Amino acid sequence: MRGIWVEELGEPDVLQLRELPVPQPAAGEVRLKVEAVGINFADVLATAGQYLTRTRVPYTPGMEFAGTVDALGEGVTGVQVGQRVASLGGRGGLAEYAVSPAAALIPVPESFTGAQAAAFPVSYFTAYFALKTLGRGAAGEWVLVQAAAGALGTASIQVAKQMGLKVVAMASTDEKLEIARQLGADVTLLQDDPERVQKVRQAAGGQGVPLILEVVGGARFQESLDMAAAQGRVIVIGNASREQANMRPVELMKRNLTVTGLWLTSLMQQPELAREAATELAKLVASGQVVPQIGPTYALADSAQAFRDIMARKTTGKVIIAPQE
Ligand code: NDP
Repeated sequence: MRGIWVEELGEPDVLQLRELPVPQPAAGEVRLKVEAVGINFADVLATAGQYLTRTRVPYTPGMEFAGTVDALGEGVTGVQVGQRVASLGGRGGLAEYAVSPAAALIPVPESFTGAQAAAFPVSYFTAYFALKTLGRGAAGEWVLVQAAAGALGTASIQVAKQMGLKVVAMASTDEKLEIARQLGADVTLLQDDPERVQKVRQAAGGQGVPLILEVVGGARFQESLDMAAAQGRVIVIGNASREQANMRPVELMKRNLTVTGLWLTSLMQQPELAREAATELAKLVASGQVVPQIGPTYALADSAQAFRDIMARKTTGKVIIAPQE
């Protein structure tokens, strides 16, 4: 089969298209014929050796993918050959076939295309955990969504609106802000607006924003604290700037702020939390109001270009790679 192979970590050129053996599912695993792979900022960081956890090489990237079950490993129950599923298996998706732990499979709503199925798990579970589980967002409250036209940003706007939250969306271009508005963002602001801190505070009635989904990091992290309302919650989800942030804990004391880290992988390993998020998200999908936003789609041979475009902030929605094309 054709697949992407990374021998050493680095910039996207390390993604090589190779002829690889079709993987065999071990006990507790299934094999998928991969229809679509969702490419996350985390994939780019992982292949660059800059992710939260160490990336073991050589490997095939692709942490989030969808397709049809094609073989079952020993002891797997509750899933059939031929079933459409998505996987949060962690690696291996960028190939014509991939194996996944059966425990990492996510059911696919019938209404979803393959691309939508691959675009759903990471962004929507993260959005739910950030807005609800950790962020404790309540109807009528304001939330700040950064990188609002991206995969997580578009998911966060949709889920926030369904929860009755009011959304301030930030992004780097007018085209991206238009996407946020189409999804229901109440106020939009350019990422580099010189008056952004005051404008965000004003949008929320001059009081600052009670809930902030922080994905940029670096100097922007301090700005998030400045934008927060008294007793505000800042959920640290990402560090797209790849810069270090300085935090002075005294800042938190003055306005009783809470800063909470979020890592999807560890939350998904808590069965009760994962089940609750899956149940609530399934209701939102069934309502027709939550539809994964698909960005550009690339062939397997163009995987490196897909990674470069994400880093260059050229993409909106979820970037998809279609290994069968
Ligand atoms: P996106 O589709 O949102 O793409 C990244 C976006 O980040 C860019 O489009 C850009 O939007 C914004 N950005 C801001 N500053 C920079 C910068 N200096 N360089 C590049 N991009 C920048 O990606 P994802 O939806 O995959 O992820 C969004 C963020 O959420 C990432 O930080 C990611 O690591 C994090 N994340 C974390 C998870 C967790 O478990 N903790 C799970 C899922 C995502 P703009 O041009 O509008 O500023």
